[in-house]
Amino acid sequence: MTIRTIQTGWTLVSSGVPDRNTHRWKYAYTGLFQRRSKRIMVPVKCYYMKVNGHSVLIDAGWSKEVVKHPMRHLGFGLWFASEPVMKQGESAKEQLAGMPIDAILMTHLDCDHVSGLLDFTGIDIYTSVEEIDFAARKKMRYGQLVKGFDFQAFDFKDDQHAPFAKSCDVFGDGSVTAYLTPTHSAGSVIYRVTDADGFALVVGDNGYMKDSWSKGILPGPLYNAENMRQCLKWINEQSQQPDCLGVYCAHERD
Ligand SMILES: [Zn+2]
Repeated sequence: MTIRTIQTGWTLVSSGVPDRNTHRWKYAYTGLFQRRSKRIMVPVKCYYMKVNGHSVLIDAGWSKEVVKHPMRHLGFGLWFASEPVMKQGESAKEQLAGMPIDAILMTHLDCDHVSGLLDFTGIDIYTSVEEIDFAARKKMRYGQLVKGFDFQAFDFKDDQHAPFAKSCDVFGDGSVTAYLTPTHSAGSVIYRVTDADGFALVVGDNGYMKDSWSKGILPGPLYNAENMRQCLKWINEQSQQPDCLGVYCAHERD
């Protein structure tokens, strides 16, 4: 397999986003009542991979729209909580110009993952039905962005080896497995990409960065804290398997 990191700029957020223990207030990650100068820059990444003949993009990062009209594109609430910082040419679509993409697989539908979908047309986009329902209900969190897309939902099966007992073999050949993880959001998904050399995990915001899963640091936005703790522990265990080729987080600094 090959995995290419596509960094679509940055987002300026409260330090409570990657680490909820930096503040006492539960909703500190929204950035409300905090000085802008105290915010931190977090990279916004998606991953382009080729495995067993499939070309796949996992998440879509920021759209090229954020370069010109960030507030109009995101709406004030989302713009305020996670301000995009990106230069022209840094969107996934621009960085992947001319590359084949068979499918786009979403780890979840937060704005810094969904925004870039606007730049792509004619490609099937997959997520969980749990995430589609959650995004339809949580309008403050997801805003208007998610409305324009026709998402395909995974058909999850019972799987005792999955972290939350549900998985889907995306292409039916064992190369990409989607695991349902009700952690950061109700329908978050982790992808396990497998070939003869071993496996890699693309974990989205189940771990903003390596410290999240290696040290068990909880992020700010959480759907279920106990599930997140369990999931970070599971990722850490997987990372220690001899055939684990890597763990790819959406906001890893390295
Ligand atoms: Zn994110």
